[in-house]
Amino acid sequence: MKSTILDGKITSGKIKSEIQVSIQKRVQEGYLAPCLATILVGDDPASHTYVNMKIKACESTGMKSKKISLPADTTTSQLLETIEKLNHDNTVQGILLQHPSPPQIDERLAFDTILPSKDVDGVTTFNFGRLAMNSDTFFPCTPYGIVLLLQEYGIDLTGKDVVVVGRSPILGKPMASMLTNLDATVTLCHSRTKNLPDIIKRGDIVIGAVGKPEFIKGDWIKEGAIVVDAGYNPGNVGDIELGVAGPKSSFYTPVPGGVGPMTIAVLLLQTLYSWEGRFSPPLKAEK
Ligand code: NAP
Repeated sequence: MKSTILDGKITSGKIKSEIQVSIQKRVQEGYLAPCLATILVGDDPASHTYVNMKIKACESTGMKSKKISLPADTTTSQLLETIEKLNHDNTVQGILLQHPSPPQIDERLAFDTILPSKDVDGVTTFNFGRLAMNSDTFFPCTPYGIVLLLQEYGIDLTGKDVVVVGRSPILGKPMASMLTNLDATVTLCHSRTKNLPDIIKRGDIVIGAVGKPEFIKGDWIKEGAIVVDAGYNPGNVGDIELGVAGPKSSFYTPVPGGVGPMTIAVLLLQTLYSWEGRFSPPLKAEK
């Protein structure tokens, strides 16, 4: 079977070019460029790298960024104060609090302090509720990136059996809701799921979001299935055994170059929408 790569680099590049054109046009009309504020608490090296990648991506589209680095011993109330300031700053259209925060921080409270209209990373309970209702909202960036990538390759989700492995609030859980809104039939698996290989074998589409290198074995994947690996582990390895799963799939996302670049493009896209005074549109199933 010929399998097609779902190329997140090319697709995210297209999205970023469109963002750049939209910004240029409005800046020429006299508007200030949009600005994404990033907050990083502590000095986790991986988090630093992720924030710097996001800032670099902003610059590549003509977007501004404001980097706020707080010490590792920041208290929840100090963090909330920082977020409130950004909520009231009219030069900032998007706020991203880099996950994970140090253990003393009430991260859920911090996320929910972000104004929903500036929640371009899609982390607030408010926007999750709007997502569940299939209203316009800001989606968590990784699952929205996956949806846009599947749509770019003309993959119709209607009636497809999709198996999502992982139920985190930023990835697996919203992914399952979004796919349900797109008329897929979703099975959401987690660490207590029984007979995982058998469930995965039934999937027309399998989405790995577990956080364990190559946890999902290639021989669990049905011939011709669509394989989406959201995982990113040290050594450029995903959560799916892509060496075996890729060639037997009809489409698959490589690691790196699949889901990762889409996540960043969506962050910028939603910052653009915020600047334009709107949310991302509701998801529409093919009719
Ligand atoms: P997470 O919060 O640690 O969640 C992991 C999920 O996997 C949990 O729901 C957990 O189930 C489930 N799980 C763990 N062991 C399992 C098992 N043996 N069988 C079935 N399910 C199991 O991770 P996350 O933040 O969602 O991230 C998942 C992966 O995506 C990671 O590799 C991460 O690096 C990657 N990621 C990539 C991007 C990107 O931009 N590309 C963005 C975010 C995350 P329980 O709920 O039962 O514990």
